Amino acid sequence: MEHPENNKAYKGLTVNSGIEKPSSVNPYLNRRKPIKRRLSVDEFVDGIVKGNVTVLSQAVTLVESVKPEHQAIAQEVIEKCLPYSGHSVRIGISGVPGAGKSTSIDVFGLHVLEKGGKLAVLAIDPSSERSKGSILGDKTRMEQLAVHPKSFIRPSPAAGSLGGVARKTRETIILCEAAGFDKVFVETVGVGQSETAVHSMVDFFLLIQLAGTGDELQGIKRGIMEMADGIIINKADGTNIDKAKLAATQFRNALHLFPAPESGWIPQVLTYSGFYNLGVKEIWDMIDEYTSFVKENGYFEARRNEQSKYWMYETINEHLRDSFYNNEKIKSMLPEKERQVLSSDLTSFIAARNLLDAYFGELKRD
Ligand code: GDP
Repeated sequence: MEHPENNKAYKGLTVNSGIEKPSSVNPYLNRRKPIKRRLSVDEFVDGIVKGNVTVLSQAVTLVESVKPEHQAIAQEVIEKCLPYSGHSVRIGISGVPGAGKSTSIDVFGLHVLEKGGKLAVLAIDPSSERSKGSILGDKTRMEQLAVHPKSFIRPSPAAGSLGGVARKTRETIILCEAAGFDKVFVETVGVGQSETAVHSMVDFFLLIQLAGTGDELQGIKRGIMEMADGIIINKADGTNIDKAKLAATQFRNALHLFPAPESGWIPQVLTYSGFYNLGVKEIWDMIDEYTSFVKENGYFEARRNEQSKYWMYETINEHLRDSFYNNEKIKSMLPEKERQVLSSDLTSFIAARNLLDAYFGELKRD
């Protein structure tokens, strides 16, 4: 019916007739992909063992998740992948920011992949929680590897304590190995505790150093040097070559002062340039030589066994800590106990005793 205001008696704009009310159902809705169903444990394991990288990534996401239901699946998947794991060379790579870790991993990675096999690059970056997102293991930092069909790059798990982050990386190693990755790099920033964590999950620990600061040895902690199976001095190119060689001599001399490592292997010091791809082959020859040497003398197995033991205790410690601090009673008591300690009403030891007694009391009641 024509609108009454369209009558000539009304001067003004024409009023158009309306249109039918559109359907409230979004016509594009049915074109959307159906919501993804979560794979079953067996589907995860099957996909991983077949080397399906998408399934592997999804499983790693579960490993990294803090949700108990995700953790439950992740743990089952890991357990079922265990028999397929272990057949890789695990290499820890550490160095201060700017030492050239990503540049080096990019060229090392391509070099080892030339020989065949598959490479996984993982990372442990305990600072990632603070910096909101990990910098390590970022694909954009390893441009060539990132697009290589035989590589898998995964940034550091983000949340949690160093122990928690490291455990997740260790579990990810198992999944990667089950997926057929026969070389695993674990990268970490060389600033302290994280080296110990990486050392506890790799076969070879590589420390990247820089020359030219004049005080090469002062900046690094003795403990970190003692962990290294190889020290490599990067940026030995251009006018920096002589300085790098000098630094190498200083490191070699310093290493002589340490007691001989349990492996029987004398850590080597090499110079190279990641950027210009100089001396990279020699680094891999060194790692190969080391691997043959420790497989021969039994240290390879011994170190892995020792690491398994270490991770059993680490996992127990982590779970006990979590269980304690997540306990409701403890959560309600902590602020008051802390206040009493700060105001010297209680000694630290008595406060701790009270809390522990309360915790164990709760456990008994459960
Ligand atoms: P990361 O923070 O340890 O990952 O270090 P990067 O790989 O990002 O390298 C830091 C800087 O050093 C970058 O600007 C690189 O281009 C440079 N760099 C890395 N390797 C070399 C090298 O072998 N020679 C020279 N001259 N520069 C390098």
